[in-house]
Amino acid sequence: MNILVLNCGSSSLKYQLIDGETENVLAKGLCERIGIDGRLKHEPEGKDKFVSEDPLPDHTAAVKAVIDALLDADHGVIKSMSEISAVGHRVVHGGELFSSSVIITDEVKKAIDKCSELAPLHNPANLIGINACEKLMPGVPQVGVFDTAFHQTMPEKAYLYAIPYKYYEKYKIRKYGFHGTSHKYVSQVCADMMDTPIEELKIITCHLGNGGSICAVRNGVSVDTSMGFTPLDGIAMGTRSGSVDPAVVLFLMQKENLSPSEMDSILNKESGVLGLSGVSSDFRDIENAENEGNERAAVALDTFAYRVAKTIGEYVSTMKGVDAIVFTAGLGENGGITRQVVCDYLRYLGIHIDSYKNSLRGQAIEITTKQSRVQVFVIPTNEELMIARDTKELVFK
Ligand code: ADP
Repeated sequence: MNILVLNCGSSSLKYQLIDGETENVLAKGLCERIGIDGRLKHEPEGKDKFVSEDPLPDHTAAVKAVIDALLDADHGVIKSMSEISAVGHRVVHGGELFSSSVIITDEVKKAIDKCSELAPLHNPANLIGINACEKLMPGVPQVGVFDTAFHQTMPEKAYLYAIPYKYYEKYKIRKYGFHGTSHKYVSQVCADMMDTPIEELKIITCHLGNGGSICAVRNGVSVDTSMGFTPLDGIAMGTRSGSVDPAVVLFLMQKENLSPSEMDSILNKESGVLGLSGVSSDFRDIENAENEGNERAAVALDTFAYRVAKTIGEYVSTMKGVDAIVFTAGLGENGGITRQVVCDYLRYLGIHIDSYKNSLRGQAIEITTKQSRVQVFVIPTNEELMIARDTKELVFK
């Protein structure tokens, strides 16, 4: 039984075909520049990579190109469409309507559409992908897995903003949180590695990629997270500001005569470590610049690590303790220096990092010494596998 996992962005589509029994990835790939010109990169397991530059005018064409690549005589991995048993879609925003994954029906599609107001860049693209699959694979069950779902367990005191309550009632303005599939996955792997039921653990998961968020997972459920109403809140990120005093936004808009969309662009695309360093949004470039003596690069990295440590500290206090901290995603998995700097702030918790283990890459590993009172782990995230598991569970249970 094979599950096709799709992650549709506004001009891209990432996919994996996963064997639902063995959990092996049979093929994975990416369609880029959909609606512009088109490019498909296809990586079949055990076969040569394949790149096509055929035009991809829309998402339906992209889904068709993915199916063709999977079925191709040379670089394909299946012989007929009937070998795709179900499709799992990453959907960014489920609002308050979805606290777990669901089989997609017309009702569900309407609800995803309703949440588009909260994620105008993402949900419409997710829906287009769902409709394309319905058209090209009629009768194949489809499942929606929401980035926000894992955080629906947050208590009111964590998700409400202290603004007039009527705006929560009228517009559903509240903290939703994102990267839920990743936080859920790494917290489960962490509990397995600790050989302790997750229901008995307090875990803080740090998803640090281009976007970044931190999550407090108590007894296996999310009780707080750093992203908010949108993925702009929380820690500083590659190009996103993270939280700032809201008055700064009003002040800047007045002083620079900025429109809401110009301000949005500054906060989402020109801020974060890019804005601070003036070098790049990529942590590798900033680390290189710091090594060459660039002071603003050093300030950007310091500010980043400080805010990650501060957020972890907040969750230690609100959960009244912590058993484990997990680092994941591009920087979390690869950035040994950043992990070390963050953990240096946390020595008061009795954390001792084993520097040899902290230098290893590409595997799930504990990086603390035996004496450490809190265990720290690096765990590669795998959102696609989570989506495949949820899809299998819902369709074939
Ligand atoms: P996205 O949020 O786009 O999914 P990723 O999880 O792929 O992002 O993370 C990408 C980021 O990870 C890059 O911007 C880079 O800053 C960081 N990164 C990747 N490899 C390394 C490394 N070896 N050292 C430091 N940072 C790294």
